[in-house]
Amino acid sequence: MSENCLFCKIAAKQIPAKLVFEDPDLFAFEDIHPQAPTHILVCPRKHFASLDAAQPADQALIGKLLLVAAQLARERHLQPGYRTVFNTGALAGQSVFHLHLHLLGGRPFHWPPG
Ligand code: 5GP
Ligand code: ZN
Repeated sequence: MSENCLFCKIAAKQIPAKLVFEDPDLFAFEDIHPQAPTHILVCPRKHFASLDAAQPADQALIGKLLLVAAQLARERHLQPGYRTVFNTGALAGQSVFHLHLHLLGGRPFHWPPG
């Protein structure tokens, strides 16, 4: 757990969130400002500031993060189309510096993203 990290505090249940998935490696919860009908954040319990901090030893954990997002998308019948996004760095819009994968679905998406 990293001091003063919002998502570490959500993982530790020190700050409430609508959790939708938990296991020993990962947790997922609903975004407080949803940008789509489904907007879930999937996070490793291990604190990484961003994807840029992940190392080769984290390969299985990062892969699992993506597979859990796909499973959550299937459970919510989002297969017609959903978006999975890592914002890495402030220039890309990252605002919480604990690695998280956005899972967005339930509406059309456009390309390129803003
Ligand atoms: P980022 O901008 O870092 O890619 O994404 C951070 C996300 O965390 C944003 O979509 C924002 O709405 C969400 N968020 C920020 N604070 C909280 C919070 O306290 N609770 C929840 N559930 N989501 C949060
Ligand atoms: Zn953290």
